[in-house]
Amino acid sequence: MKISTVATDTEHEMVQLAEDADCGYRAIIAIHSTHLGPAVGGTRLWSYDTLDAALSDALRLSRGMTFKNAAAGLALGGGKSVILKPPGAFDRKQLFRAHGRFVNSLGGRYMTAEDVGSSPADMAVMREETPHVAGLPDLSGDPSPVTARGVFRSIQAAAFHRWGTGDLTGRTVALQGCGNVGYNLAKELFAAGASLIVADVNPQATTRLAGEFKATITDTRHIHSAAADIYAPCALGGILNSGTIPELRCEIISGAANNQLLEPADADRIEARGILYVPDFIANAGGVINGTRELLGWAPERSRAKVEAIYDTTLEIFRLAKVHGLTTAAAAERVALARLQP
Ligand code: NAD
Repeated sequence: MKISTVATDTEHEMVQLAEDADCGYRAIIAIHSTHLGPAVGGTRLWSYDTLDAALSDALRLSRGMTFKNAAAGLALGGGKSVILKPPGAFDRKQLFRAHGRFVNSLGGRYMTAEDVGSSPADMAVMREETPHVAGLPDLSGDPSPVTARGVFRSIQAAAFHRWGTGDLTGRTVALQGCGNVGYNLAKELFAAGASLIVADVNPQATTRLAGEFKATITDTRHIHSAAADIYAPCALGGILNSGTIPELRCEIISGAANNQLLEPADADRIEARGILYVPDFIANAGGVINGTRELLGWAPERSRAKVEAIYDTTLEIFRLAKVHGLTTAAAAERVALARLQP
């Protein structure tokens, strides 16, 4: 395996590229910060058009992990891996074994878990090469139901802040993305008495939610502007932008997708519309908290309590935003930055 350092003009501590031509493996690990502890962030397997596109994803997502972990009060830094999905057929085991070796070469400075395109089974393959991996099937496992629980708690907190009650009976939620997190969030919302409008590029995912949770299916191009009380983005980043924000009809936004704002000014646009936004890295911290069992040796009960506490963290962000006259996104960044002070 050939490992080389990638020079960037960002604040990242370290960025490396690894290549193993034998199995078509190419991956980037970006370590944004180890100030609070070892850098932690998932391994994304994705078809990138260019190496530059993969690099910018790794840089953006690893920075987000620093803020997420800091805001959650975890003794963990921020990092991320992206594996460039080889075109055509490839040996998945060989690919993840190679990635395990790359992670291991960093000696514990970076620890990983599953992310979009990877699974707990892939983590078990990596575990054959490195101890620095979480989300193993027989330990903390799939983080998605836990992430969904955290998003649900943040929605309850936002509902309480907005409407004076966390009761979601009769509320309508527009859910964008019905994958691992979206499905589990739909389950929680349905059990809480909410109605669902859902969209996904994969028709099987929406049909399942229509069958199990009486969800109404809509077009992926219109889900953000559906007539709903709450909009829950659980698919892609960048979906809150100058084009979509004027079309929103919800009062609350909270979802699992990372990097929901296309640019910082979008937080002001949302605020100007009078919509209450739960910053993504506050709402979706359940995934990394789930991994604390392997990452920090926490007992499962401690992790569970920390996920439930996303309710309180969300209310605290709203309080700070109000007191300091900030957007909720700026308030969340302020909390994280305060913890990142030397
Ligand atoms: P997933 O891949 O299981 O689900 C994503 C779903 O979005 C898929 O069903 C996909 O078909 C759908 N989708 C893709 N493009 C779409 C579009 N344009 N419109 C509507 N739907 C579209 O991923 P996931 O694990 O459920 O994660 C969802 C999001 O939450 C991702 O952004 C991920 O980074 C973030 N997240 C996940 C976790 C976790 O624990 N899984 C933790 C934190 C953050």
